[in-house]
Amino acid sequence: MSAEIINGKDLAQEIRTNMKAEVNELINEGITPHLTVVLVGDNPASKSYVRGKEKAAKEVGISSSLIELPSTASEAELLDVIQKLNGEPSVHGILVQLPLPNQISEQKVIETIDPSKDVDGFHPVNIGRMMIGEDSFLPCTPYGIITMLKSRDIKIEGKHAVIIGRSNIVGKPVGQLLLNENATVTYCHSRTKDLKEHTLQADILIAAIGKADAITSDYVKEGAVVIDVGINRLENGSLTGDVDFDSASKKASYITPVPKGVGPMTIAMLLKNTVKAAKGLAVVGK
Ligand code: NDP
Repeated sequence: MSAEIINGKDLAQEIRTNMKAEVNELINEGITPHLTVVLVGDNPASKSYVRGKEKAAKEVGISSSLIELPSTASEAELLDVIQKLNGEPSVHGILVQLPLPNQISEQKVIETIDPSKDVDGFHPVNIGRMMIGEDSFLPCTPYGIITMLKSRDIKIEGKHAVIIGRSNIVGKPVGQLLLNENATVTYCHSRTKDLKEHTLQADILIAAIGKADAITSDYVKEGAVVIDVGINRLENGSLTGDVDFDSASKKASYITPVPKGVGPMTIAMLLKNTVKAAKGLAVVGK
């Protein structure tokens, strides 16, 4: 058996194409959706992610601006920038690119962003609303994963989803979204004993670990849907996921590749959240 590939690059392109009309309509009503990205320091990976986000925004007609602070910026300076953006009506979405330098508390930064402009969906108000199934900005990577599953009409209800990884930005929220869709969810992490025992029961297996090609076919049940979130750069400069694609795709029914998988979907969902913010649809914090 060879798995069907869910190409996130193509799906993200389709979503962006459909979004253009929606953005145009808003512009005709006098609202140009605007995303402001704040980048602290000069981490090359972060710079490249930011460029990708700006390019995608431009393609659909969302205007964007970039505020760059030096790696020596203090927490107070960054919080001040965010507070000004919170009070600026023409800015609909605020994204602070993570990770931040050590002298700055990421949590404090996230909690300073107005929840109604929190297009990354990391603010505790948005996370909390997601948990109780209320409308909110969904974290972009988990939102992208659910969209990929739905794009292929993959049944989630009643399925056993096993998530490897429990970070606040990927593992935990993707499990919650799957639970909201009536899956039975198991979380695994670095202290999980006998990882395989769990993963081999997964109808939907999500790998969000950050370890190149760690999940081989030995971890995959025949016919499982495998979603690879990992982005790992190899010594030769190429990118690979957390899943050993060649072996896992022989057992899976569907699989996402890296690159051209979850990554582009994350950016597409960021744009969706920005349009939602511009429409004033975020009821959070009001
Ligand atoms: P974190 O480092 O925050 O979390 C990694 C998680 O994996 C932790 O919960 C950790 O467990 C768990 N883990 C680590 N090693 C093992 C192991 N051997 N067995 C089981 N669990 C393990 O990473 P992120 O969630 O931020 O990101 C995960 C991956 O996804 C990275 O490669 C990242 O680059 C990528 N990523 C991709 C995105 C995309 O758009 N495609 C977006 C965001 C991230 P514990 O909690 O016990 O430490």
